[in-house]
Amino acid sequence: MAGADRMSESAAVLRGAGLRATGPRVGVLGALGELHHATADEIAAYVAPDGVAQSTVYRALEHLERAGLVEQVTLTPDRRTYHRTSSAAHLHLRCTRCGDLQQADVGVLRRLAQTLDDTAGFRLDTEHPVLTGVCAACRSVSEAE
Ligand SMILES: [Zn+2]
Ligand SMILES: [Zn+2]
Repeated sequence: MAGADRMSESAAVLRGAGLRATGPRVGVLGALGELHHATADEIAAYVAPDGVAQSTVYRALEHLERAGLVEQVTLTPDRRTYHRTSSAAHLHLRCTRCGDLQQADVGVLRRLAQTLDDTAGFRLDTEHPVLTGVCAACRSVSEAE
């Protein structure tokens, strides 16, 4: 996708949320559209070539979070990452060997959530759950050994 398309899409999202489409906000939203999950520092590194300072990125993230366009997700205890709230509810699959993060359809969890509700009265968080395991690449390495 051309960079210009992405910029106008981000600008439209910002205006829809009642925010002014400033350059840094457009840049941060665009960065998250590409990176999907990223820390503030990773976003800052991504938009740095466009001349956006780190402190500006942090401020833009605050505004976007308050407007409900991005939210923080704790994928690992030591990494505070952000993702766009417009990306549909998804399951995070984190590899415990290489740290790789994938997204999967949250539908596979719905039956489990229903069962837990029925049997234990427990309401599972199915918005942004993180499941840990071993990814396909790491598995193929260990199986080849
Ligand atoms: Zn996510
Ligand atoms: Zn892995």
